[in-house]
Amino acid sequence: MPHGPGAEVSELFPSMQQEIARLCASPEIRSAFTWFRAQEPQFTQWQLQLARIAAPPFGESARGAWLAEKFKELGLDPVYSDEVGNVFGTRSGYGHGYVSLSAHLDTVFPAGTPLNVRQQGSRLYGPGVSDNGAGVTAILAIAAVLQAVGLHHALPLLFVGNVGEEGEGDLRGMRHIFSTPRWKDSIHYSLVLDGAGSDTIVAEALGSRRFEVIVRGPGGHSWSDFGAPNPIVVLSRAVHAFAQTPVPSLPKTTFNVGVIRGGTSVNSIPESASMRVDIRSTSMAEMERLERALRYALDQAVEEESQATKARNPSRRHPFGLSCELVPIGNRPAGELHPNAHIMQVIRAVDAQLGNAAQVQRASTDANIPLSLGLEAIAIGGGGTGGGAHTLQEWFDCSGRELGLKRILLTLLGLAGRAI
Ligand SMILES: [Zn+2]
Repeated sequence: MPHGPGAEVSELFPSMQQEIARLCASPEIRSAFTWFRAQEPQFTQWQLQLARIAAPPFGESARGAWLAEKFKELGLDPVYSDEVGNVFGTRSGYGHGYVSLSAHLDTVFPAGTPLNVRQQGSRLYGPGVSDNGAGVTAILAIAAVLQAVGLHHALPLLFVGNVGEEGEGDLRGMRHIFSTPRWKDSIHYSLVLDGAGSDTIVAEALGSRRFEVIVRGPGGHSWSDFGAPNPIVVLSRAVHAFAQTPVPSLPKTTFNVGVIRGGTSVNSIPESASMRVDIRSTSMAEMERLERALRYALDQAVEEESQATKARNPSRRHPFGLSCELVPIGNRPAGELHPNAHIMQVIRAVDAQLGNAAQVQRASTDANIPLSLGLEAIAIGGGGTGGGAHTLQEWFDCSGRELGLKRILLTLLGLAGRAI
């Protein structure tokens, strides 16, 4: 689910604008738009069906199998899955290089979460119904309209339902696709659909690095072993020092200590203490600088507590052993699209054509992976409106889905080009 403050707006390009206007005036596109309106009940059914198939992190295979079936019904060929569970379907074209349209299959909800998915009027309720029920449904709607109306395009299209976008998934689906030479070198444009809405363009990849820090010591009795090193004190010293690291407002860079744990009882010197730290920025260099600051703060804190232990134990009666481990638990690369990139020109021309006001944003999405490799990618919504993402109260409203679908279709065809 993308989120984040707005960034600057790129220019409009008149020739691109004319191309999109011509595309929009074609009879095929007009029938596609009419078809979208007529098919909303089908889209709603797909969305309800897929949201009822659990897709926890690392457990997306049932939803993937459902999607593969739908891809086949909609005439994509070939349809197949890779070794991590990403599902692919292609529509052949005439040129070199693919335009990919992807949506993540996974949800944040652990296995066993009750999926009380239901419809009330135009509103759908249930965990994952919008993030990313909206994105997956939009992919199906686009594949369906291309088949129904017989729309042709120059570049081949790659439809992808990918695994592992949320939380601990750490973008593993996209990472796998773009580490495969076949796709890394052949996907020229990536259009990522994430969640609901038609009013955003994610063109800046917000990167993050996450760590679990574990400090271990000999432990002991608070009275009789007094003087032994204390892991909670080490963490406290490190947090105090790290929290004073200056961060720039541009590129926006943040840090957080989100979890802290340790100790067993009030009268025990703890044997261990741990914390979880989150570092975010659109700049790789800033994330690296903050990681170095964290490591330095930890080294200093261990050193200070070791010195204090020595001072408290001139006779060295107690063990000194103190260790600190930094375990990476998340790593999402940062990246940024050039404001005048081709994909940006296309989406901005499409928005102007549709009279749609959209804001450029920075967020962490599947687009991080291609963006960090210097490839052209954006993330947009699947249309409609949604709310309560990542909660059991999540909802999606189908009203206005049409605008989102028109926007996706025109952008996709604008990127792929018309077949002559
Ligand atoms: Zn999402």
